[in-house]
Amino acid sequence: MKLICIGRNYAAHIEELANEKPKEPVVFIKPDSAILPKEQDFYIPEFSNEVHYEVELLVKIHKVGKHIDQKFAHKYYNEISLGIDFTARDIQSELKSKGLPWEKAKGFDGAAVIGKWVHKDNFKNLHKLGFSLLKNGDFVQNGNTEMMLWKIDELIAYVSQYFMLKKGDIIFTGTPAGVGKVSPNDYLEGKIEDESFFSINVR
Ligand code: ZN
Repeated sequence: MKLICIGRNYAAHIEELANEKPKEPVVFIKPDSAILPKEQDFYIPEFSNEVHYEVELLVKIHKVGKHIDQKFAHKYYNEISLGIDFTARDIQSELKSKGLPWEKAKGFDGAAVIGKWVHKDNFKNLHKLGFSLLKNGDFVQNGNTEMMLWKIDELIAYVSQYFMLKKGDIIFTGTPAGVGKVSPNDYLEGKIEDESFFSINVR
């Protein structure tokens, strides 16, 4: 399986990193080895001095498809979760400045946190879904899917032009504003509306 990640999908986050607003979604992939095993602590890798959290809504693909039409995209996913796209921002900035790929900054072991899965029918409106990240009990990121530049169905249509989607693939739909650094002993908790989807300790 693969983790397909979307960058720059929330206007305010684009501004905080001084990126240009893209004409198309920014897409990258994390290997499955990046998934942080359940109940395991996140260890800041020694090659980075600046690992950032990015809380993101996750969508799990449940059937094979390519060149999926946007109007049929909803048939390709049933489950929603919340996760973190951990990013070694210092490494990423260096790679970006050289025009090199981001994998070392985004695909390292443990860089993908995946919360519990909930059927999409449990949410009243997927396109108006609030989510948040708390660090040591304080809200550090608040997002709402209504602020996405590209909605879930548009993302599925877009990425399936390039990558065949397979059962079990997960889409990280991009992070809202408020990204920041993690430090040892931080405690992170992700919520969709008032429900907790994951919690992790940083080491
Ligand atoms: Zn991200």
